[in-house]
Amino acid sequence: MGFLSFASAASVWRGYEYYKGGKVERCQETNDGHYEGQVSGSGEKKYQVKINLEHPRSSQCSCPHAAGKQIVCKHMAALYFYAFPEESEDYYRELIKAEEKAEQEQERLENAVIEHVGKMKKAELQQALLQTLFDGPEWQFDRFVREYDIQ
Ligand SMILES: [Zn+2]
Repeated sequence: MGFLSFASAASVWRGYEYYKGGKVERCQETNDGHYEGQVSGSGEKKYQVKINLEHPRSSQCSCPHAAGKQIVCKHMAALYFYAFPEESEDYYRELIKAEEKAEQEQERLENAVIEHVGKMKKAELQQALLQTLFDGPEWQFDRFVREYDIQ
């Protein structure tokens, strides 16, 4: 994942979607570690993309986001995935794994909160509830007022 580490997480994800969506129209290796191709953007636009694996910041794309800047844009990421399909599979697998891990962590935390609340004393609970109602978002306060018909 050397090349992709020069791109933002959002660009890698969009590049993956572009690649999977068939937006890479052609790609060829022009030199060792150099790939050149065409990637269609949103709408009718087509961008000329050149990637340089050894010097990712020297990669070029004719899109407005990358023009004149030393960044790795989503079109470059899409071309990279096209040139290295197994990398796209690794990327997706890692992404799913990370999401599952985040979900598990969230579930663990929710269970810990349930357990903690179960052990709190009445006065503590009242204080915590009031704090949540007054410091939390307004909709939460409004919902509480409606739910308990407080006037
Ligand atoms: Zn681009």
